[in-house]
Amino acid sequence: MFNIKNKITKDKKISKILKKEKIRQENQVTLIASENYVSNAVLSAQGSIFTNKYAEGKIKNRYYAGCKYVDKIEKIAIERAKRLFCVKYVNVQPHSGTQANFAAYSSVLKYGDTILGMDLSHGGHLTHGSDVNFSGKLYNFIHYKTNKKGEIDYSNIRKLAKKHKPKMIVGGFSSYSGDCNWKKMRKISNEINAFLLVDISHIAGLIIAGLYNNPIPYAHIITSTTHKTLSGPRGGIILSNHDDKNLFKKIDSSVFPGCQGGPLVHVMLAKAIAFKEAYGQKFKNYQIQVIKNVKAMIKIFKKENFKIVSNGSKNHLFLLDLRKNNVTGKEIEERLYRANIVVNKNNIPDDDKKPSITSGIRIGTPAITRRGFLERESQKIAKWIIQIIKEKDNLNTILNIKNKVYKMCKLFPIYKNK
Ligand SMILES: *Cc1c(COP(=O)(O)O)cnc(C)c1O
Repeated sequence: MFNIKNKITKDKKISKILKKEKIRQENQVTLIASENYVSNAVLSAQGSIFTNKYAEGKIKNRYYAGCKYVDKIEKIAIERAKRLFCVKYVNVQPHSGTQANFAAYSSVLKYGDTILGMDLSHGGHLTHGSDVNFSGKLYNFIHYKTNKKGEIDYSNIRKLAKKHKPKMIVGGFSSYSGDCNWKKMRKISNEINAFLLVDISHIAGLIIAGLYNNPIPYAHIITSTTHKTLSGPRGGIILSNHDDKNLFKKIDSSVFPGCQGGPLVHVMLAKAIAFKEAYGQKFKNYQIQVIKNVKAMIKIFKKENFKIVSNGSKNHLFLLDLRKNNVTGKEIEERLYRANIVVNKNNIPDDDKKPSITSGIRIGTPAITRRGFLERESQKIAKWIIQIIKEKDNLNTILNIKNKVYKMCKLFPIYKNK
Protein backbone atom coordinates (compact mmCIF):
# COMPACT_ATOMS: atom_id res chain seq x y z
CA MET A 1 0.00 0.00 0.00
CA PHE A 2 1.01 3.54 -0.66
CA ASN A 3 2.52 5.25 2.31
CA ILE A 4 3.77 8.79 2.27
CA LYS A 5 7.11 7.73 3.78
CA ASN A 6 7.79 4.84 1.39
CA LYS A 7 9.26 5.09 -2.02
CA ILE A 8 6.48 3.95 -4.28
CA THR A 9 8.50 3.30 -7.40
CA LYS A 10 12.05 2.63 -8.56
CA ASP A 11 11.35 5.01 -11.41
CA LYS A 12 13.74 7.80 -10.38
CA LYS A 13 12.34 10.42 -12.71
CA ILE A 14 8.86 9.97 -11.28
CA SER A 15 10.00 9.63 -7.65
CA LYS A 16 11.82 12.93 -7.88
CA ILE A 17 8.69 14.76 -9.04
CA LEU A 18 6.55 13.10 -6.37
CA LYS A 19 9.01 14.17 -3.69
CA LYS A 20 9.01 17.72 -4.99
CA GLU A 21 5.22 17.85 -4.99
CA LYS A 22 5.21 16.67 -1.38
CA ILE A 23 7.61 19.47 -0.44
CA ARG A 24 5.47 21.96 -2.37
CA GLN A 25 2.31 20.93 -0.55
CA GLU A 26 4.03 20.98 2.85
CA ASN A 27 5.69 24.37 2.36
CA GLN A 28 2.93 26.35 0.70
CA VAL A 29 -0.15 27.89 2.23
CA THR A 30 -3.07 26.61 0.16
CA LEU A 31 -6.01 28.99 0.10
CA ILE A 32 -7.67 27.43 -2.94
CA ALA A 33 -11.24 27.01 -1.74
CA SER A 34 -11.81 23.72 -3.58
CA GLU A 35 -8.69 21.95 -2.26
CA ASN A 36 -8.11 19.93 0.87
CA TYR A 37 -5.86 17.20 2.30
CA VAL A 38 -7.02 13.61 2.70
CA SER A 39 -6.28 11.40 5.69
CA ASN A 40 -3.61 8.72 5.51
CA ALA A 41 -6.38 6.11 5.31
CA VAL A 42 -8.03 7.79 2.33
CA LEU A 43 -4.63 8.16 0.70
CA SER A 44 -3.83 4.47 1.17
CA ALA A 45 -7.25 3.38 -0.06
CA GLN A 46 -6.62 5.09 -3.38
CA GLY A 47 -3.39 3.17 -3.77
CA SER A 48 -5.04 -0.15 -2.93
CA ILE A 49 -5.45 -3.25 -5.11
CA PHE A 50 -9.10 -2.45 -5.73
CA THR A 51 -7.71 -0.35 -8.58
CA ASN A 52 -7.26 -3.66 -10.44
CA LYS A 53 -10.94 -4.57 -10.54
CA TYR A 54 -13.54 -3.98 -13.22
CA ALA A 55 -17.03 -3.69 -11.72
CA GLU A 56 -19.38 -2.27 -14.33
CA GLY A 57 -22.96 -2.45 -13.16
CA LYS A 58 -24.58 -2.36 -9.76
CA ILE A 59 -24.25 -4.38 -6.55
CA LYS A 60 -25.11 -8.06 -7.24
CA ASN A 61 -25.70 -7.20 -10.88
CA ARG A 62 -22.26 -6.80 -12.46
CA TYR A 63 -20.97 -7.37 -15.95
CA TYR A 64 -17.83 -9.10 -14.61
CA ALA A 65 -17.17 -11.99 -12.24
CA GLY A 66 -15.15 -11.54 -9.06
CA CYS A 67 -17.07 -8.61 -7.60
CA LYS A 68 -17.87 -10.21 -4.22
CA TYR A 69 -15.70 -7.79 -2.25
CA VAL A 70 -16.34 -4.82 -4.52
CA ASP A 71 -20.04 -5.31 -3.73
CA LYS A 72 -19.31 -5.19 -0.02
CA ILE A 73 -17.28 -1.99 -0.40
CA GLU A 74 -19.83 -0.21 -2.60
CA LYS A 75 -22.61 -1.23 -0.21
CA ILE A 76 -20.77 0.20 2.79
CA ALA A 77 -20.00 3.43 0.90
CA ILE A 78 -23.68 3.83 -0.02
CA GLU A 79 -24.92 3.03 3.50
CA ARG A 80 -22.49 5.47 5.08
CA ALA A 81 -23.39 8.26 2.66
CA LYS A 82 -27.10 7.63 3.32
CA ARG A 83 -26.51 7.99 7.02
CA LEU A 84 -24.23 11.01 6.63
CA PHE A 85 -26.59 13.03 4.44
CA CYS A 86 -29.87 11.53 5.73
CA VAL A 87 -31.04 10.49 2.25
CA LYS A 88 -32.84 7.52 0.74
CA TYR A 89 -30.74 7.22 -2.38
CA VAL A 90 -27.01 7.47 -3.13
CA ASN A 91 -24.86 6.68 -6.15
CA VAL A 92 -21.13 6.62 -5.29
CA GLN A 93 -19.85 5.80 -8.77
CA PRO A 94 -19.38 9.21 -10.46
CA HIS A 95 -15.70 9.79 -11.19
CA SER A 96 -15.97 13.51 -10.42
CA GLY A 97 -18.33 16.39 -9.76
CA THR A 98 -18.55 17.05 -13.47
CA GLN A 99 -19.50 13.42 -14.17
CA ALA A 100 -22.10 13.58 -11.40
CA ASN A 101 -23.72 16.62 -13.02
CA PHE A 102 -23.51 15.07 -16.48
CA ALA A 103 -25.30 11.95 -15.23
CA ALA A 104 -27.83 13.89 -13.14
CA TYR A 105 -28.87 16.18 -16.01
CA SER A 106 -29.24 13.36 -18.49
CA SER A 107 -31.19 11.18 -16.05
CA VAL A 108 -34.26 13.42 -16.30
CA LEU A 109 -33.68 15.77 -19.26
CA LYS A 110 -33.34 15.53 -23.00
CA TYR A 111 -30.53 17.33 -24.82
CA GLY A 112 -31.71 20.77 -25.82
CA ASP A 113 -33.95 21.17 -22.76
CA THR A 114 -33.84 24.47 -20.91
CA ILE A 115 -32.05 24.69 -17.53
CA LEU A 116 -31.81 27.73 -15.25
CA GLY A 117 -28.49 27.96 -13.39
CA MET A 118 -26.27 30.49 -11.68
CA ASP A 119 -24.12 32.75 -13.85
CA LEU A 120 -20.45 31.74 -13.79
CA SER A 121 -19.11 35.18 -12.82
CA HIS A 122 -21.72 35.37 -10.03
CA GLY A 123 -20.51 32.14 -8.46
CA GLY A 124 -21.80 29.30 -10.65
CA HIS A 125 -19.72 26.43 -12.04
CA LEU A 126 -18.56 25.53 -15.55
CA THR A 127 -20.96 22.58 -15.50
CA HIS A 128 -23.87 24.95 -14.83
CA GLY A 129 -24.06 26.00 -18.45
CA SER A 130 -20.78 27.55 -19.53
CA ASP A 131 -20.63 27.54 -23.33
CA VAL A 132 -17.16 25.94 -23.30
CA ASN A 133 -18.53 22.99 -21.26
CA PHE A 134 -20.75 20.03 -22.25
CA SER A 135 -23.55 21.60 -20.19
CA GLY A 136 -23.70 24.76 -22.29
CA LYS A 137 -23.33 22.83 -25.53
CA LEU A 138 -25.95 20.13 -24.87
CA TYR A 139 -28.56 22.13 -22.96
CA ASN A 140 -30.21 25.48 -23.38
CA PHE A 141 -28.92 27.19 -20.22
CA ILE A 142 -30.36 30.46 -18.94
CA HIS A 143 -28.53 32.18 -16.07
CA TYR A 144 -29.60 34.00 -12.95
CA LYS A 145 -27.41 36.56 -11.25
CA THR A 146 -26.86 37.95 -7.77
CA ASN A 147 -28.26 41.37 -6.84
CA LYS A 148 -26.31 44.58 -6.14
CA LYS A 149 -25.58 43.41 -2.61
CA GLY A 150 -24.06 40.24 -4.06
CA GLU A 151 -26.86 37.99 -2.79
CA ILE A 152 -28.94 35.43 -4.67
CA ASP A 153 -31.88 37.28 -6.18
CA TYR A 154 -35.00 35.09 -5.91
CA SER A 155 -37.26 37.54 -7.73
CA ASN A 156 -34.85 37.42 -10.67
CA ILE A 157 -34.90 33.61 -10.55
CA ARG A 158 -38.71 33.57 -10.48
CA LYS A 159 -38.92 36.04 -13.36
CA LEU A 160 -36.55 33.98 -15.52
CA ALA A 161 -38.28 30.76 -14.50
CA LYS A 162 -41.70 32.07 -15.58
CA LYS A 163 -40.33 33.48 -18.81
CA HIS A 164 -38.20 30.53 -19.97
CA LYS A 165 -40.01 27.61 -18.32
CA PRO A 166 -36.88 25.55 -17.66
CA LYS A 167 -37.25 21.83 -17.00
CA MET A 168 -34.67 22.14 -14.24
CA ILE A 169 -33.34 24.80 -11.88
CA VAL A 170 -29.76 24.31 -10.70
CA GLY A 171 -28.67 25.68 -7.33
CA GLY A 172 -25.18 25.57 -5.88
CA PHE A 173 -21.95 27.40 -6.64
CA SER A 174 -18.17 27.47 -6.60
CA SER A 175 -17.39 31.06 -5.72
CA TYR A 176 -20.41 32.49 -3.92
CA SER A 177 -20.02 33.26 -0.23
CA GLY A 178 -23.57 34.25 0.70
CA ASP A 179 -26.60 32.38 1.97
CA CYS A 180 -29.09 30.46 -0.09
CA ASN A 181 -32.73 29.88 0.75
CA TRP A 182 -33.39 26.44 -0.74
CA LYS A 183 -37.02 26.44 0.32
CA LYS A 184 -37.62 29.47 -1.90
CA MET A 185 -35.75 27.79 -4.74
CA ARG A 186 -37.97 24.72 -4.42
CA LYS A 187 -41.07 26.86 -4.31
CA ILE A 188 -40.09 28.53 -7.58
CA SER A 189 -39.34 25.19 -9.22
CA ASN A 190 -42.73 23.87 -8.05
CA GLU A 191 -44.46 26.86 -9.62
CA ILE A 192 -43.15 25.89 -13.05
CA ASN A 193 -43.09 22.14 -12.43
CA ALA A 194 -39.29 21.90 -12.83
CA PHE A 195 -36.73 19.70 -11.13
CA LEU A 196 -34.54 21.35 -8.51
CA LEU A 197 -30.97 20.08 -8.62
CA VAL A 198 -28.59 21.41 -5.98
CA ASP A 199 -24.87 20.96 -6.51
CA ILE A 200 -23.26 21.01 -3.04
CA SER A 201 -19.72 20.30 -4.31
CA HIS A 202 -18.20 23.12 -2.30
CA ILE A 203 -20.37 23.15 0.81
CA ALA A 204 -20.96 19.43 1.46
CA GLY A 205 -18.74 19.39 4.57
CA LEU A 206 -20.46 22.44 6.05
CA ILE A 207 -23.88 20.91 5.41
CA ILE A 208 -22.93 17.63 7.09
CA ALA A 209 -21.78 19.63 10.10
CA GLY A 210 -25.06 21.60 10.14
CA LEU A 211 -23.32 24.91 9.47
CA TYR A 212 -24.93 25.92 6.19
CA ASN A 213 -28.55 25.88 5.00
CA ASN A 214 -29.31 22.32 4.00
CA PRO A 215 -30.82 21.86 0.51
CA ILE A 216 -31.33 18.09 0.88
CA PRO A 217 -34.95 18.33 2.13
CA TYR A 218 -35.84 20.55 -0.85
CA ALA A 219 -33.91 19.31 -3.88
CA HIS A 220 -35.08 16.47 -6.13
CA ILE A 221 -31.45 15.64 -6.91
CA ILE A 222 -28.24 16.59 -5.09
CA THR A 223 -24.81 16.28 -6.66
CA SER A 224 -21.46 16.76 -4.98
CA THR A 225 -17.74 16.23 -5.14
CA THR A 226 -16.16 14.32 -2.27
CA HIS A 227 -12.81 16.14 -2.21
CA LYS A 228 -13.61 19.73 -1.25
CA THR A 229 -14.89 20.63 2.25
CA LEU A 230 -15.87 16.98 2.62
CA SER A 231 -12.10 16.18 2.55
CA GLY A 232 -12.37 12.76 0.93
CA PRO A 233 -10.91 11.38 -2.30
CA ARG A 234 -11.26 13.17 -5.65
CA GLY A 235 -14.66 12.01 -6.89
CA GLY A 236 -18.40 12.62 -7.20
CA ILE A 237 -21.70 11.44 -5.72
CA ILE A 238 -25.39 11.81 -6.50
CA LEU A 239 -28.01 11.83 -3.74
CA SER A 240 -31.77 12.05 -3.59
CA ASN A 241 -34.45 12.11 -0.97
CA HIS A 242 -37.31 12.08 -3.42
CA ASP A 243 -40.23 9.65 -3.09
CA ASP A 244 -39.97 8.51 -6.66
CA LYS A 245 -38.00 5.24 -6.82
CA ASN A 246 -38.18 5.53 -10.58
CA LEU A 247 -35.93 8.58 -10.36
CA PHE A 248 -33.30 6.54 -8.51
CA LYS A 249 -33.31 3.94 -11.29
CA LYS A 250 -33.01 6.63 -13.93
CA ILE A 251 -29.99 8.15 -12.16
CA ASP A 252 -28.34 4.74 -11.76
CA SER A 253 -28.64 3.92 -15.42
CA SER A 254 -27.61 7.41 -16.40
CA VAL A 255 -24.32 7.00 -14.46
CA PHE A 256 -23.79 3.50 -15.92
CA PRO A 257 -24.12 2.70 -18.80
CA GLY A 258 -25.15 6.26 -19.70
CA CYS A 259 -22.06 8.30 -18.87
CA GLN A 260 -19.40 6.00 -17.45
CA GLY A 261 -17.90 2.54 -17.73
CA GLY A 262 -16.34 0.80 -14.75
CA PRO A 263 -16.40 2.67 -11.44
CA LEU A 264 -13.12 3.56 -9.70
CA VAL A 265 -13.44 0.91 -7.00
CA HIS A 266 -10.36 2.11 -5.09
CA VAL A 267 -11.99 5.56 -4.95
CA MET A 268 -15.32 4.11 -3.78
CA LEU A 269 -13.31 2.45 -1.00
CA ALA A 270 -11.74 5.81 -0.14
CA LYS A 271 -15.18 7.47 -0.23
CA ALA A 272 -16.47 4.89 2.29
CA ILE A 273 -13.58 5.75 4.62
CA ALA A 274 -14.06 9.50 4.20
CA PHE A 275 -17.81 9.26 4.92
CA LYS A 276 -17.09 7.54 8.23
CA GLU A 277 -14.46 10.16 9.07
CA ALA A 278 -17.17 12.79 8.58
CA TYR A 279 -19.59 11.32 11.17
CA GLY A 280 -18.35 12.67 14.44
CA GLN A 281 -17.68 15.74 16.50
CA LYS A 282 -14.09 15.98 15.27
CA PHE A 283 -15.28 16.63 11.72
CA LYS A 284 -17.85 19.13 12.98
CA ASN A 285 -15.21 20.98 14.99
CA TYR A 286 -13.04 21.11 11.88
CA GLN A 287 -15.85 22.69 9.84
CA ILE A 288 -16.57 25.18 12.66
CA GLN A 289 -12.91 26.21 12.56
CA VAL A 290 -13.02 26.55 8.74
CA ILE A 291 -15.71 29.21 9.19
CA LYS A 292 -13.94 30.87 12.12
CA ASN A 293 -10.81 31.18 9.99
CA VAL A 294 -12.75 32.79 7.13
CA LYS A 295 -14.29 35.29 9.55
CA ALA A 296 -10.88 36.04 11.10
CA MET A 297 -9.39 36.82 7.68
CA ILE A 298 -12.35 38.93 6.56
CA LYS A 299 -12.04 41.04 9.71
CA ILE A 300 -8.49 41.99 8.72
CA PHE A 301 -9.42 42.76 5.10
CA LYS A 302 -12.36 44.89 6.18
CA LYS A 303 -10.23 46.80 8.65
CA GLU A 304 -7.99 47.73 5.73
CA ASN A 305 -11.00 48.75 3.61
CA PHE A 306 -10.77 45.92 1.12
CA LYS A 307 -13.88 45.18 -0.89
CA ILE A 308 -15.36 41.72 -0.35
CA VAL A 309 -17.96 40.39 -2.79
CA SER A 310 -21.31 39.83 -0.98
CA ASN A 311 -19.76 41.94 1.80
CA GLY A 312 -18.68 38.89 3.82
CA SER A 313 -19.04 35.13 3.99
CA LYS A 314 -21.49 32.55 5.31
CA ASN A 315 -19.27 29.64 4.28
CA HIS A 316 -15.67 28.57 3.73
CA LEU A 317 -14.65 31.15 1.12
CA PHE A 318 -14.78 34.76 0.02
CA LEU A 319 -13.82 36.84 -2.99
CA LEU A 320 -11.61 39.92 -2.85
CA ASP A 321 -12.67 42.54 -5.39
CA LEU A 322 -9.34 44.10 -6.45
CA ARG A 323 -10.66 46.80 -8.78
CA LYS A 324 -10.03 49.70 -6.45
CA ASN A 325 -6.51 48.43 -5.78
CA ASN A 326 -5.78 48.77 -9.49
CA VAL A 327 -4.44 45.24 -9.89
CA THR A 328 -5.84 42.17 -11.61
CA GLY A 329 -6.52 38.78 -10.07
CA LYS A 330 -3.86 37.31 -12.34
CA GLU A 331 -1.16 39.70 -11.07
CA ILE A 332 -1.99 39.05 -7.42
CA GLU A 333 -2.24 35.29 -7.88
CA GLU A 334 1.27 35.34 -9.38
CA ARG A 335 2.70 37.70 -6.79
CA LEU A 336 1.30 35.70 -3.86
CA TYR A 337 2.59 32.48 -5.39
CA ARG A 338 6.11 33.85 -5.26
CA ALA A 339 5.62 34.13 -1.48
CA ASN A 340 4.29 30.54 -1.37
CA ILE A 341 0.70 31.66 -0.81
CA VAL A 342 -1.54 29.81 -3.28
CA VAL A 343 -4.86 31.36 -4.33
CA ASN A 344 -6.79 31.40 -7.58
CA LYS A 345 -7.78 34.39 -9.65
CA ASN A 346 -11.55 34.54 -9.93
CA ASN A 347 -14.08 36.60 -11.83
CA ILE A 348 -16.26 38.86 -9.74
CA PRO A 349 -19.94 39.47 -10.67
CA ASP A 350 -20.17 40.99 -14.17
CA ASP A 351 -16.38 41.20 -14.36
CA ASP A 352 -15.17 43.14 -17.39
CA LYS A 353 -11.96 41.08 -17.41
CA LYS A 354 -11.51 37.66 -18.98
CA PRO A 355 -11.38 34.50 -16.80
CA SER A 356 -7.63 34.37 -17.56
CA ILE A 357 -7.13 37.87 -16.07
CA THR A 358 -10.04 38.59 -13.64
CA SER A 359 -10.65 41.41 -11.17
CA GLY A 360 -10.65 39.23 -8.08
CA ILE A 361 -9.11 36.39 -6.13
CA ARG A 362 -10.91 33.63 -4.26
CA ILE A 363 -9.73 32.73 -0.77
CA GLY A 364 -10.83 29.60 1.08
CA THR A 365 -9.83 28.08 4.40
CA PRO A 366 -10.60 24.30 4.19
CA ALA A 367 -6.98 23.29 3.50
CA ILE A 368 -5.20 25.55 6.01
CA THR A 369 -7.71 24.57 8.70
CA ARG A 370 -7.18 20.89 7.97
CA ARG A 371 -3.46 21.26 8.67
CA GLY A 372 -4.22 23.00 11.97
CA PHE A 373 -4.14 26.74 11.33
CA LEU A 374 -6.37 28.71 13.71
CA GLU A 375 -7.51 32.37 13.71
CA ARG A 376 -4.04 33.59 14.67
CA GLU A 377 -2.39 32.04 11.63
CA SER A 378 -5.30 33.02 9.37
CA GLN A 379 -5.01 36.66 10.39
CA LYS A 380 -1.26 36.66 9.85
CA ILE A 381 -1.80 35.32 6.34
CA ALA A 382 -4.44 37.99 5.65
CA LYS A 383 -1.96 40.66 6.72
CA TRP A 384 0.72 39.22 4.44
CA ILE A 385 -1.68 39.18 1.51
CA ILE A 386 -2.54 42.82 2.15
CA GLN A 387 1.12 43.75 2.34
CA ILE A 388 1.83 41.99 -0.94
CA ILE A 389 -1.11 43.69 -2.66
CA LYS A 390 -0.15 47.13 -1.36
CA GLU A 391 3.62 47.04 -1.76
CA LYS A 392 3.53 46.28 -5.46
CA ASP A 393 6.48 44.27 -6.69
CA ASN A 394 8.75 44.77 -3.71
CA LEU A 395 11.08 41.78 -3.87
CA ASN A 396 12.21 42.16 -0.25
CA THR A 397 8.62 42.05 1.00
CA ILE A 398 7.90 38.93 -1.03
CA LEU A 399 11.02 37.09 0.15
CA ASN A 400 10.46 38.15 3.73
CA ILE A 401 6.88 36.84 3.67
CA LYS A 402 7.94 33.66 1.88
CA ASN A 403 10.29 32.98 4.77
CA LYS A 404 7.52 33.54 7.33
CA VAL A 405 5.18 31.27 5.36
CA TYR A 406 7.86 28.57 5.39
CA LYS A 407 8.26 28.80 9.16
CA MET A 408 4.53 28.68 9.75
CA CYS A 409 4.12 25.64 7.49
CA LYS A 410 6.92 23.81 9.30
CA LEU A 411 4.92 24.09 12.54
CA PHE A 412 1.89 22.45 10.90
CA PRO A 413 2.98 19.45 8.82
CA ILE A 414 0.24 17.97 6.65
CA TYR A 415 1.45 14.38 6.87
CA LYS A 416 3.07 13.89 10.23
CA ASN A 417 4.61 10.42 9.93
CA LYS A 418 7.29 11.24 7.38
C1 LIG B 1 -15.81 21.60 -8.21
C2 LIG B 1 -17.19 21.67 -8.71
C3 LIG B 1 -17.67 20.77 -9.67
C4 LIG B 1 -16.79 19.83 -10.46
O1 LIG B 1 -16.04 18.96 -9.80
P1 LIG B 1 -14.86 18.16 -10.53
O2 LIG B 1 -14.64 17.00 -9.62
O3 LIG B 1 -13.72 19.10 -10.66
O4 LIG B 1 -15.36 17.72 -11.87
C5 LIG B 1 -19.02 20.81 -9.99
N1 LIG B 1 -19.83 21.71 -9.43
C6 LIG B 1 -19.40 22.62 -8.54
C7 LIG B 1 -20.37 23.59 -7.94
C8 LIG B 1 -18.06 22.63 -8.16
O5 LIG B 1 -17.63 23.56 -7.29
